[in-house]
Amino acid sequence: MLHVIDKDYGWIEVICGSMFSGKSEELIRRLRRAQIAQQEVAIFKPAIDDRYSANHIVSHSEQQIPAIAVKTAWEILEKSGDAHVVGIDEVQFFEPEIIEVCDKLANDGKRVICAGLDQDYRAQPFGSVPQLLAIAESITKTLAICMCCGAPANRTQRLSKDSNQVVVGAKEIYEARCRKCYSAPSK
Ligand code: ZN
Repeated sequence: MLHVIDKDYGWIEVICGSMFSGKSEELIRRLRRAQIAQQEVAIFKPAIDDRYSANHIVSHSEQQIPAIAVKTAWEILEKSGDAHVVGIDEVQFFEPEIIEVCDKLANDGKRVICAGLDQDYRAQPFGSVPQLLAIAESITKTLAICMCCGAPANRTQRLSKDSNQVVVGAKEIYEARCRKCYSAPSK
């Protein structure tokens, strides 16, 4: 884990993995720790994801924390204000500007914590997450449990035949699967 030497020292943390791996739960845990330490925290999510709540980040384990829904990454920059810690959930849904935005926030001395899917349902790198992983100071890969065999799982199996990269949903559409049990969708 990172240790703060100077309180103006910024960095980027990425929490990534498949669906049902506890990414949002880990993000909420880190943000709560910062709030308990009375650090100013700004929390964002893309406006696209309103599965559970329009103004909260909600984990599958039903923990939640208030968040601002934004349409673009630039809004994060505008709305972070004096926050020392900036949390961003479902980071894979943002346009590529998210990389520049995270970089700028970190350069400004903020601790940026991003959570998101590292792979899409075809097991391909998702959106700007690979670039974020490259520039991040700290990476946590969370694992789910395979719904077929119980092994550690880092892939997301889509159960429907929809071929859009983004189909927002949860248990009824997706399952966590291990490398062995995952089957790639036919092209
Ligand atoms: Zn399996």
